[in-house]
Amino acid sequence: MGLATTVERIPLKTDTTIDVHHFGSNQKGILIVSGIHGDEVTGVFATKKLIEIIQKNGCPTPITIIPVANPIAFSCRTRADPRDNLDLNRIFPYENNNGPTHDIAQTIWSLAKEATTIIDLHSSDHLSAIPYVVCLYRDERVKRLAVSLNVETIVEGRKNKGHLFAEATRIGIPSIIVELAGKSAIYNEKQGELMAHKLYEFLINKTPSNANKFYGNIVDIDAPNKGILKLEIEPGQIIKKGDIIGMIEDVEVIAPDSGIVLRSVEPSMILKGERICSIALERISNSIERNDVVLHKK
Ligand SMILES: [Zn+2]
Repeated sequence: MGLATTVERIPLKTDTTIDVHHFGSNQKGILIVSGIHGDEVTGVFATKKLIEIIQKNGCPTPITIIPVANPIAFSCRTRADPRDNLDLNRIFPYENNNGPTHDIAQTIWSLAKEATTIIDLHSSDHLSAIPYVVCLYRDERVKRLAVSLNVETIVEGRKNKGHLFAEATRIGIPSIIVELAGKSAIYNEKQGELMAHKLYEFLINKTPSNANKFYGNIVDIDAPNKGILKLEIEPGQIIKKGDIIGMIEDVEVIAPDSGIVLRSVEPSMILKGERICSIALERISNSIERNDVVLHKK
């Protein structure tokens, strides 16, 4: 399809290079990032697959893909680059450049600022998880982006400082996170493959078929005591406040709220305070704190 393709190998000051794949013209385009956390491999698998699909079928819109945003962390199969152990997704937009992770943040932010849209792929730290989108969907443009990706479950993100999606949304660039199943460099091939196809359908503007469901913030349910955990729920299931979500030995674990189960631990011996599962709340908060997303439209 005569698609202009370039792979730019950007050398950083700190002995690292980041491969950035550009497809199409030099116009402003969509930015897709994965591997910001080095041990979250499902997203990396998905973007590599997406690159294959684009190379085969072309792409009508300019797009930039960074499959491995945090290369040293990826090589070490760790969340952060061990040289400074900073969480890359907590320091956007970089403020000063004083180490390898700031160096990466500066490079990614310079591309992010020029993007029309950002999709940031992560893994939800559990092997047992449904795919879901996290975003500040009270912004209409963010909502439209989230819906067009054709992932059923859309969860309200928090406006945490330093997160790529939140900081980019703040400066008026519609941005979302996609969370996929995966943990400690173990990836979910099926979800990764499916996401690659959903991303491609998004790029070619295929009309999404899903009816989306919107939820509030994510809440973790932690183990009240230690012991052998027997789960009574699974990801994707809707639970109501007061439901029994599992047993730890002979203690019932009760759902503190209603919502959808996004991710859960494997059947295991669990310690007090460890996460059993996370739910996205059925109720959507109306607090001022949640509503004051001020977006500066471009
Ligand atoms: Zn992550």
